[in-house]
Amino acid sequence: MRAPILMLAFMVLAGCAGPVTRQVPVDNAALQREIEKQTEIALQARADHFRRFYHVVFRTFDGASAMCPKTRQAIGIYPVNQYDFNQRFRKAAARLWQTGDRVQILFVARGSPADRAGVKPLDVILRIDDTAAPQGKKAVSRLRKLLMQRLDKSGIVRLVLERRNPQGVRQTITTVVRPTRICDYRFGVMTNDRVNAFANGVFVVVTSGMMRFVNNDDELALVVSHELAHNIMGHIQKMRRNAWLGTLLDLLAAGYGVNTQGAFGRLALLRFSKAFEAEADYVGMYIMARAGWRIERAPNFWRRMAASHPGSNRTGFTRTHPITSRRFLALEKTVAEIRAKQASGQPLQPERKKPVSNQRDDDDEDE
Ligand SMILES: [Zn+2]
Repeated sequence: MRAPILMLAFMVLAGCAGPVTRQVPVDNAALQREIEKQTEIALQARADHFRRFYHVVFRTFDGASAMCPKTRQAIGIYPVNQYDFNQRFRKAAARLWQTGDRVQILFVARGSPADRAGVKPLDVILRIDDTAAPQGKKAVSRLRKLLMQRLDKSGIVRLVLERRNPQGVRQTITTVVRPTRICDYRFGVMTNDRVNAFANGVFVVVTSGMMRFVNNDDELALVVSHELAHNIMGHIQKMRRNAWLGTLLDLLAAGYGVNTQGAFGRLALLRFSKAFEAEADYVGMYIMARAGWRIERAPNFWRRMAASHPGSNRTGFTRTHPITSRRFLALEKTVAEIRAKQASGQPLQPERKKPVSNQRDDDDEDE
C-alpha cells in the first residue's frame, strides 16, 4: 500500500508547482502610480459615503432637535485639514482636495444654514468673525471650539472664506451664517462590509455595508432615526442585560476625518431588547416625519432587510434588529397614525403608554 501513498504525495506536490508562463514585468514607477490611484479611489469612496451620511444625519438631527434631551448649535460644515487623515490617506487627500495646514470645508450639509448662506465644499476658512482661523495640528478641534464660542456669544457668525474658481483663481468671500440647533450626538460611518448600525447613547454609527444597502436617503434616514431614537429614549441607561460586543468603533473611518477624538476605543456596542427595538421603531418614525423624510418607505425597508439578511446572520443588523411580522404591521400602523396627526394639524409627539398597573412588555414575538 506504500506506492499509492507516495504517488498521491507526488501528485499533490506537483499540483503545488508554480505557474509555467512568464510573469508580466511591471516597472516600479508604474506600480507606485497604481498604488496611489487605488488609495485615492478608496478615500473618495469613503468620502462619498460620509457626505451622504452627513447630509442625512444633519437634516434628521435638526428636525428631531425638539425631541432630544441635549442639543447644540450647528451650521452644517465638516471642516478638515491634512492632520485629520492618517498616513495612508494624507497624500491622497492632498491630491484630491489640496488639503494642507489650513482648515477647509470638506462637506456642507444640504439645506443647512451654511448651505443656505452659500458656503461651498473645499472653501478654506480664513477668519471666523475677526479671529484668524487656526492652522496646523489640532487646528480643526480649535476651530470647532472657536466657532461654538462665537455662536454662543452672538448667535451668528461671519465666515471669511477662500474659494478657488474652476480656473484656479482664488477669491475671498464673506458670508454670515445663523445656526440651527441639532441633537447633540456624535456620528460616523464605520468601514465594515456588514449591513449594520449602532447607537450607544453617545454615537450613531452605520457601516459602509449599510451605506451600500440603503436604496435612497429616506431609507438611510430611517436607520439613523431608529438609532437616534435609542439614544433619545435612553435605552443604554435602561438596559439591564447589556451585552458588550467589543470595541469595533476605532475602525470607524479611521484617518479619514470622522472625528472620534479617541473615544471609540473604550466604547462598546450594545444590543437592545425587543421592547426597546419596538420603541425605537415607533419613536424613529416620528423623528423621520419631523425631519420631513418619507415615512411610507420604512416598512418595506425592513421587509427588504429581512429578505436579504435572514436570521442566519448572527452579527448583522437583523440579529440585533430582528424583523418580525408584528414589527412590520406596527410600522404600517405608525405611518397611518402620523399621517392622521399631520392631516389634522396635531403635534408630532409619540403617544405615551397609558398608566396601567401590572403592565408587562409583550416579549413573545414571532421570530
Ligand atoms: Zn435598534
